[in-house]
Amino acid sequence: MVLGEAEPVLPRLLPALARLTDRRNLIEIGATIPGCYVPSAYSFRYDSDGRVREISVSDGLPQQVHRVSLKKSDQAAHSEILSPDAELGMYMTELGRGCSRGCRFCAAGFIYRPPRLWSADAVLDSLDQRPSEVNRIGLLGMEMADSELLDRISGFLQANACSLSFSSLRADRISPRLLELLSHSGLKSVAIAPDGCSERLRGVINKGLSEDDLIAAAVALVDAGIYTLKLYVMVGLPTETEQDLEEFVQLVQKIRENIRPVGQKKGRLCELILSVNSFVPKPWTPFQYLSFGGQEREQAMQDRDCTAAVLNLKKKIKYLKKSFARVDNLHIKVDRPDKVLSQAVFSRADRRIGPALLDIGMGKATFKQAMKKHKLSSWQYAVRPRDSDELFCWQVVDQGIQAGYLAKELERSLTGQSTPPCDTSLCRRCGVCGENES
Ligand code: SF4
Repeated sequence: MVLGEAEPVLPRLLPALARLTDRRNLIEIGATIPGCYVPSAYSFRYDSDGRVREISVSDGLPQQVHRVSLKKSDQAAHSEILSPDAELGMYMTELGRGCSRGCRFCAAGFIYRPPRLWSADAVLDSLDQRPSEVNRIGLLGMEMADSELLDRISGFLQANACSLSFSSLRADRISPRLLELLSHSGLKSVAIAPDGCSERLRGVINKGLSEDDLIAAAVALVDAGIYTLKLYVMVGLPTETEQDLEEFVQLVQKIRENIRPVGQKKGRLCELILSVNSFVPKPWTPFQYLSFGGQEREQAMQDRDCTAAVLNLKKKIKYLKKSFARVDNLHIKVDRPDKVLSQAVFSRADRRIGPALLDIGMGKATFKQAMKKHKLSSWQYAVRPRDSDELFCWQVVDQGIQAGYLAKELERSLTGQSTPPCDTSLCRRCGVCGENES
């Protein structure tokens, strides 16, 4: 397995693979090429309570496999194969990699560090290489784009009669230039992600979006002719209470009151789509220590099964569904916490889950049956709170993040402290930039 980004690894890996005559020599590749992980050369020992006690490694291999990343690039990666049958069916171009925001629930924000933004020339060059008949463009990493880059992209798209598409927008980065771009692109709906139900919770997760940011973004989008707004939010975040959910109900109400007159002036009805999802703790994030279901540590340890965690989430979803039940022009989509439980198990599972995955994948068993057959505990993987000094199976990978940094970030989160966005020229906070830079 190659851990990290392909570009720095492939020039050495491909000739080495071409020379390979015996699979056993893969170990040599793992020993000599950074980023190459040979799972069979690593073995895990577990405690009787299921925790990882020790990770041992064959001679000559690193104790941890360093994830590799591209420092800079004068090319922006883009779609090479386009097919009408492809899911998105558009020409995708990277504006950069990683994300500078440090949202504490987001795995991508930590495992793709440091954030990097490609030059405007590189991005425009990549856009220029699209097949002439393709005029729908998807931009990846738009949150980080500065106004100069957006200006140049906007100019290019207008000059080439292209339209723009993207997955979601950061509510505090909606500039007049971006709105102009959206308007020209004829987008019918845009998603913004408060992620946390209340302003306090958005502090806990380091999202840093205020109620005013969200209302202003909604008004600006409707004013630019986008009449369907999607709002993504999670339940089961740490420290969440009913008061936080109530604040979300009020926020939605305020958004509706603010966008209605703007839509009416244009003779249009505005529609809100709320997407409510159960939070799943992810490895390599400050929330990797927490319980699925949002329970306090003591309660999660006491229960020793997942029923209370799932019930807790179901109650919150029910509360939101009821609160929005008879609201005009509003749709609410919710997930099913009992189904999301399997995601929460897979998220922090180790190699003992392999046989169960095989049974599920081959259609031989449902998730529940497979866990039972292989004597695996969903509670152990999904709900058991982790200790700050615990050894995790994913620590076989070295992401470049200093030991203890994620635990410190969790502490900051629970004491309501925010962490500023990355500034790669100055910041040496998490260990990825500077001396330890890959
Ligand atoms: S060292 Fe600072 S700038 Fe670099 S990835 Fe870590 S937090 Fe971001």
